[in-house]
Amino acid sequence: MYNKDFTDFGKSDILKSKKTSLVKNLFGEVSENYDLMNDLMSFGVHRLWKESFIDWMAPRKNHHLLDLAGGTGDIGLSYLRRGGGKVTIADLNFKMLSVGKNKQISKNFDEKIFWLASNGEKLPFNDNNFDMVSISFGLRNVADKSLALNEIFRVLKPGGRFMCLEFSKVTTPLLDSLYQLWSANVIPKLGEKISGQKTNYEYLVESIKRFPNQDELASLIRGSRFNFVKFRNLSGGIAAIHSGWKI
Ligand code: SAM
Repeated sequence: MYNKDFTDFGKSDILKSKKTSLVKNLFGEVSENYDLMNDLMSFGVHRLWKESFIDWMAPRKNHHLLDLAGGTGDIGLSYLRRGGGKVTIADLNFKMLSVGKNKQISKNFDEKIFWLASNGEKLPFNDNNFDMVSISFGLRNVADKSLALNEIFRVLKPGGRFMCLEFSKVTTPLLDSLYQLWSANVIPKLGEKISGQKTNYEYLVESIKRFPNQDELASLIRGSRFNFVKFRNLSGGIAAIHSGWKI
């Protein structure tokens, strides 16, 4: 039965208040191998998804992006490389952020990039602050998605845009069967081999299964007052990009 105080954590349902610290520990444990595992698990395809995401974000030099759950900085760094003005990368986990800081090789970005440890459910920013807010493979891990979406809405400027990249539901049965086989059999074993982290990668697989599908996520985003909500599928729905406006 639905209980608003509970949320998913892998196969379990746990109190929302417990999820944040569990997720924080998990990403602390995987941070050193996070980028390598993403490449191995997706054959590098996550890089193409992230580039498509940036395409749709269309960086502008006078815009300030908040990249929430920004982790090791892929989206924030790419946004700047592709002409964006400024970026604040916020994440629950210091270790993920410090891996990202070590990747920031361009000194030109020093004045344009801010790394911040913060929970996306309670952002330390004034209302109407950012031109755009993005979250890439992060919303699935947040304890209370609506709380985070409401915060995103609050900190966006009127006319600002929210962009979300996340795993989603595969749209063709054959691809779905192959994808399920790969997820259930290969990903946890790969996690164990590369970083000794089997259970953390079992969490990843379960969290993907339990995340809302494309239409459900669009409704959730609309529920936080965003307008003109749209999505597009990537790789047959393995991932999807959602967009909504604060208008
Ligand atoms: N955005 C990066 C990417 O696309 O590679 C990292 C995604 S990683 C799968 C998920 C990130 O979400 C982790 O770095 C984790 O610490 C962060 N996270 C989870 N819950 C969060 C929360 N409530 N607030 C901020 N960050 C959170």
